[in-house]
Amino acid sequence: MTTESHSAAEIPARLNLVREEIRLACEGADRPADAVELVAVSKTVPAAAIEDAIEAGQCVFGENRVQEAHAKWPALKELHAGIELHLIGPLQTNKVKDAVALFDVIQTVDRPKLARALAEEMERTGKRPGCFVQVNTGEEPQKAGVAPDDVAEFVELCRETFNLPIMGLMCIPPFDEEPAMHFALLAKLADELGLSDLSMGMSGDFETAIAFGATYVRVGTAIFGERVLLE
Ligand SMILES: *Cc1c(COP(=O)(O)O)cnc(C)c1O
Repeated sequence: MTTESHSAAEIPARLNLVREEIRLACEGADRPADAVELVAVSKTVPAAAIEDAIEAGQCVFGENRVQEAHAKWPALKELHAGIELHLIGPLQTNKVKDAVALFDVIQTVDRPKLARALAEEMERTGKRPGCFVQVNTGEEPQKAGVAPDDVAEFVELCRETFNLPIMGLMCIPPFDEEPAMHFALLAKLADELGLSDLSMGMSGDFETAIAFGATYVRVGTAIFGERVLLE
């Protein structure tokens, strides 16, 4: 797992550019500049490069694998106060314990078995990371997430039965489709359910996502450079 990351000097510059693009997108959408939180996606990025981003003032990060995050982040969190770590990849129930211990936000809640396991671990430990329900807006068979038609029922289960701290909805649109319709669908679903947070938009489309109401954008490549291994 390696990343052809930008040189140390480049990461702060890239980060500032992304921040400026977020600011402009907020302005264009008539939204306040602080309406959108940047989640810097540091999967495959070595700790040294992550530290460059932290030193440039970034404190919210996303990882997609529990095991990789577990190898990198306890030490980084120890060194740097105020880090907020998001899990943005699939979560197996046998990793729930590690995930609840390490992550501050879990964006990929997508099935009753996982919701139950998270509820039990939160009950056991008293640690309650914020949760997003992942929605498979493109209804792609190979992709994780709840089908749009099932979101209302699943969110109710998470809230009522499991008392999970559901913040909002998250989606990863299909590669080969216009993301705008997916962002619009996610925003509509969240609105119907009275959920205020929307995690949507990546390096290629975060400006569009902001126009559709994203409150969290997940940006990796534009900050850290191309990943060598495809996810
Ligand atoms: C890798 C990843 C991202 C970041 O993608 P970039 O195109 O590198 O910005 C965002 N969200 C999820 C779920 C990811 O796995």
